[in-house]
Amino acid sequence: MAWWKIIAFIFAAIMIFFGILFIWGSFSAQGGGGTWIVIGAISVVIGLGVIYFAARKPASDTTNVTLNIDLPVNVGMDTIKCKSCGGTITKNDISMVAGAPIVTCPYCHTSYQLTEEPKW
Ligand SMILES: [Zn+2]
Repeated sequence: MAWWKIIAFIFAAIMIFFGILFIWGSFSAQGGGGTWIVIGAISVVIGLGVIYFAARKPASDTTNVTLNIDLPVNVGMDTIKCKSCGGTITKNDISMVAGAPIVTCPYCHTSYQLTEEPKW
């Protein structure tokens, strides 16, 4: 649990505690009557509201999980262009020959090894 949630729960508990005391006190002989009930009720509502917001699961948790799943597998694969003619090379034009990726251009039929950092 985050530290601010603990503080929020303590704050809420104090608010509800004093809210109930005000409502209770309004019925006693020395009490303030209707005004005390209103103050007590507002205090309890604020306390309950703080508990509601503190107990809620933060939205950022689910966002992080979704971002990790949606991470693209082949970044930049669709930007490869042919060395000879500049035609766009797709994943289907790359074949593994003796452990090395060999590109066969569908436009000019040039075959060459795909390097780690190609310079066109
Ligand atoms: Zn080509």
